[in-house]
Amino acid sequence: MQNYDVVVIGAGNGGLTAAATCAKQGLKTLLLERHNIPGGCATSFCRGRFEFEVALHQLSGMGQASFPGPLRSTLNSIGVVDEIEWVEMKNLYRVVVPGRMDITLPATRAGFTAALIERFPAEREGIEQFVDLVYKFFNEVIAAVYMRDPDASPQKYPLYYKYALVDAQSILDTYLKDPLLKLAVAVYWSYAGAPPRIFSFTDFAAMLFAYIEFKPYHMKHGSQALSNAIVDAFIKSGGEVRFSCGAKKIIVKDGRVAGVVLETGEEVTTGYVISNASPISTCGEMLDPEFQNPEAFAQMGAHTVGPSAYTIYMGLDCPHQELGIVEETNFICTHTDMNRAYNEMKMLENEPAQMLLTCYNASDPAASPPGTSQAVLVDLKYGEPWLSVPPHKYYDYKYRYAEKMLAVAEGVVPGLRAHIEEAEVSTPLTHMRYLGTPAGSIYGFDQFIRDSRVFGNFDPGLPGLYFAGAWVGGGGFQPTLMSGASAGRAVAKQIRKERG
Ligand SMILES: Cc1cc2nc3c(=O)[nH]c(=O)nc-3n(C[C@H](O)[C@H](O)[C@H](O)COP(=O)(O)OP(=O)(O)OC[C@H]3O[C@@H](n4cnc5c(N)ncnc54)[C@H](O)[C@@H]3O)c2cc1C
Repeated sequence: MQNYDVVVIGAGNGGLTAAATCAKQGLKTLLLERHNIPGGCATSFCRGRFEFEVALHQLSGMGQASFPGPLRSTLNSIGVVDEIEWVEMKNLYRVVVPGRMDITLPATRAGFTAALIERFPAEREGIEQFVDLVYKFFNEVIAAVYMRDPDASPQKYPLYYKYALVDAQSILDTYLKDPLLKLAVAVYWSYAGAPPRIFSFTDFAAMLFAYIEFKPYHMKHGSQALSNAIVDAFIKSGGEVRFSCGAKKIIVKDGRVAGVVLETGEEVTTGYVISNASPISTCGEMLDPEFQNPEAFAQMGAHTVGPSAYTIYMGLDCPHQELGIVEETNFICTHTDMNRAYNEMKMLENEPAQMLLTCYNASDPAASPPGTSQAVLVDLKYGEPWLSVPPHKYYDYKYRYAEKMLAVAEGVVPGLRAHIEEAEVSTPLTHMRYLGTPAGSIYGFDQFIRDSRVFGNFDPGLPGLYFAGAWVGGGGFQPTLMSGASAGRAVAKQIRKERG
């Protein structure tokens, strides 16, 4: 029987950085992935002459070499930054509410503020105060939380203590009036799947601050290139990876992790498992009932499963400029009510309310073959309603909603449909199938204020079992990549301690 220091289950972002970090620290590490390629969400697939990016629209936290963001340091620590051709975006996004607003916000504090003031001149003062608060508040968060200031106190960090658990909507309402302005400022809520009313100002400010200060990024050849580069770095450090090879069971002996049973039936021994699968399936399916910790289930029961996505991947037979698509990141909203848009995420048959149209060619002309372009239309959707669709009706629902999304998109990009050469549609059930996540969740648990990690981190209550990825560190590329590295460091530290 093979023995490993660590077995990592799942090669999504969190599993990849966890495995690479462990191997880099000299630990004998096995990475198991059920799919035949690495990446989880961070993958691509081919249709015709197009290679489609599955997930990444905007990467946060990278920053430039001269002004590195936290993610750059994480990726540097496993030696992959120089293996990727990074594509920096100049603008955060364009938001269009047809007939009412069409605004593009640059990825600089001054440009962001000026563009908002130009469109909403009567709200100059509120806009300036709002942006100022985001910056001052988040700088306090960095000092008090990220730098772990031992002397943190309400006197030293008054904004942090006052606003950390306040909802983002209250702050928007304090400083801004026009619902269009509030939408323009807060449209990134969909990147977390939580509207400002139930999203903490801390998480909201973190997102806005990170994208403005460290710029949104993409990469040539898509996120699959990053996933592949991390696997290469892992193997170079002595790691072993097995694709098309899921983990079936975690073996427990003497009250701690003792090994893993693979889906092939083979057993390996290890004292440490880092799971990139959801805690729901890890604790509920991979642990025999006698080892399931009621405390862990109580913790999971306090959360709800987050949203999945409905996506149309389109290979277009013309350059994007011909269709008038200028920006890479375009939010198309049919109304300004973010709470209503959130409630519509729970429906099967609503009219699309807030969609993201990404055209990678706008910042990377080589994102598709010459003379073509690649565009992706995403609408966040909870998986739950899709679970009750009978199999014989699945395609009706799937393509009916695609038609609705295309109709709304054509209001902003006339003629889009006529230029589709290749198309593929994914629903929450697609993500459920490929990722194995409950209800196809792409962000793990919901990320509401009540889910904030200031209330504590998930503890499976089983020595040797650790987690990495969206379910424990929050959804999105930056949080998942960073959570994996942090789980890897924690395991390495523990092993060093045990070995003296
Ligand atoms: C359409 C879409 C758009 C998105 N846009 C963005 C964006 O623009 N910016 C951003 O930051 N984030 C975005 N995200 C979210 C981001 O991609 C995810 O939150 C993140 O990639 C999840 O990473 P993870 O580490 O949790 O692992 P996952 O991606 O969930 O992968 C988990 C892996 O574990 C494997 N696995 C599960 N069970 C087992 C088992 N028993 N044995 C072996 N392997 C197993 C799965 O096969 C999978 O490969 C998007 C996601 C989607 C789908």
